Amino acid sequence: SDTLLEFDGIDKYFDDTKVLHDVSLAVNEAEVVVIIGPSGSGKSTLLRCANRLETVQSGEIRIGGIPIQDGNVDHLRQRIGMVFQDFNLFPHKTVVENITLAPATVKDIDDQVARERAMDLLGDVGLEDQTDSYPNQLSGGQQQRVAIARALAMEPSLMLFDEVTSALDPELVGEVLTVMRELAADGMTMVIVTHQMGFARDVGDRIVLMSDGEIAEIGETESFFTDP
Ligand code: ADP
Ligand code: ADP
Repeated sequence: SDTLLEFDGIDKYFDDTKVLHDVSLAVNEAEVVVIIGPSGSGKSTLLRCANRLETVQSGEIRIGGIPIQDGNVDHLRQRIGMVFQDFNLFPHKTVVENITLAPATVKDIDDQVARERAMDLLGDVGLEDQTDSYPNQLSGGQQQRVAIARALAMEPSLMLFDEVTSALDPELVGEVLTVMRELAADGMTMVIVTHQMGFARDVGDRIVLMSDGEIAEIGETESFFTDP
């Protein structure tokens, strides 16, 4: 199958501290790769490098075979949707405005078209009744579903999820994981950093274990969890 995202020999430093050591990983079209590992092992940094929220010191990251450094950063971030632990919604915009803002401005999509598409996405994440709410009127689980819908509004070819359920009360985790399961079933290419092992096992095609800035182990999900 075709490779969509490729990390090729990535080294990353923060000042003098090396936090990624020669990391190589290829993610195929429609594949779901789940990254697990202890806090501080470099999971978040690796994801952030893919859409140039962090720079790398050596190696190359490619999307569809093209080095990400070669393209325009805005264009790159249209292709890669990213969802973070802490939602990052615009607090003074309604739910629907949060979703339409980027497509209407960055992609120059007609307001009415952007709104209709946002309503469809809100239906997909089960929030069609919260269109005109403000983020602070929503639960964390609802806010995170809005954040996912907002990322999808750009019609990305790849979605990155960085511990998106870690800040949620336990009873709200399931509703976010359900949305992610549906995305995976629809064939979205996804790289997911999570501590939810049951979910990782359910949804991941492959599991990557990071440790001290390196890929310590990688394998197909079934063998990863069963082999000694
Ligand atoms: P994980 O996501 O696995 O918890 P991170 O990628 O957040 O790990 O962190 C990897 C290492 O990089 C850690 O040692 C962390 O303290 C360090 N780090 C992360 N972000 C920064 C930063 N902005 N400045 C300096 N060090 C950082
Ligand atoms: P995560 O668990 O998602 O990796 P962290 O709690 O490690 O997040 O880090 C939260 C923020 O703090 C991130 O923006 C990260 O870049 C920054 N950070 C982490 N470690 C350090 C560090 N040692 N020095 C400076 N910033 C850091």
